[in-house]
Amino acid sequence: MKFDLQLFAVPARRTSKTAKRARRTHLKKDAPTTVTCKNCGAAIAPHRACSKCGQYKGKEVIKKEEN
Ligand SMILES: [Zn+2]
Repeated sequence: MKFDLQLFAVPARRTSKTAKRARRTHLKKDAPTTVTCKNCGAAIAPHRACSKCGQYKGKEVIKKEEN
């Protein structure tokens, strides 16, 4: 016996709120990846200069005001 399954586009109003919400429970946004700055210890984006102290790979690449 041949199983003939055809999938159609379903109109939006035929999909219940619950079914739509249940499907979207798997849609999640990941937390952004951070690394620790070796100079000041702040959480920063990888391969970027630190926005707190302006250092990248041990060199000051952005001039920051000193207290
Ligand atoms: Zn830093």
